[in-house]
Amino acid sequence: MTGKLGLLILSLTLCLCTGCAVNPITGEEELMFISENQDIEIGQKYAPEIEKQLGGKIDNPSLQNYIDSVGQRIARISHKPNWEFHFTAVEHKMVNAVALPGGHVFVTKGMLEKLTTEAQLAALLAHEIVHITARHSSAAISREMGLSFVLFGLSAAAGANIPQDAARAAALALQLIGLKYSREQERMADVAGLDYMVVAGYNPYGAVELMQMLEDQDKVRPVEFLSSHPSPENRIISLNARIQTRYADSEGLRIGKNAYRSAVLDHLPN
Ligand SMILES: [Zn+2]
Repeated sequence: MTGKLGLLILSLTLCLCTGCAVNPITGEEELMFISENQDIEIGQKYAPEIEKQLGGKIDNPSLQNYIDSVGQRIARISHKPNWEFHFTAVEHKMVNAVALPGGHVFVTKGMLEKLTTEAQLAALLAHEIVHITARHSSAAISREMGLSFVLFGLSAAAGANIPQDAARAAALALQLIGLKYSREQERMADVAGLDYMVVAGYNPYGAVELMQMLEDQDKVRPVEFLSSHPSPENRIISLNARIQTRYADSEGLRIGKNAYRSAVLDHLPN
């Protein structure tokens, strides 16, 4: 009991200190009830549950290492190079990717099957990394799930061995998977994600190809990834415009078609 009360008081103290946070990408102050330490706590507590809800980890260490190495390469040049990032491929068939506060990124098998190059994977991971470094998911939790999640959700998940707590943890994990970002946050994730991938050495047209693939897929069947994202047409136009003004000379930057095929596609039997 005293432990829980202690956590509550600690959380309240942290919240009072961190009601506002400066966004590292825009430099603007924004309302934030979650501290960076709580980001990490949320990530650690919910990553296993989210992994489970997304069908579990794909059982292939070399594929996992490859996904993680591409992600780490981008994370190291991001605005938070010292944060601990984790990139995990999960079995879910839906075309989706999920970013969790504290540095956890999940990519579904459904998504991996539709990509054809390492640069496209880099574009996807860079976009998700921005959602984490700009703390969009933390802001969305503050907005959609509220302060009560921060105060009580974490301690509830810690006791997930009790059946009703396990059910609650699963429900909270599903809520985290379904967090919605604003149009402005998506625009920022596209723009800063493009910059991240180029600085990490990837050909920026991978981002345009990714968006085109998502748009095509969405016509066949609604793409889960796009349900929280604005329609792709305008995003393709603005991505192309930014590439032409800033990265016109993308010669020599990595595309990695063969690498992606042998590291990922060859290991995903249809
Ligand atoms: Zn996004």
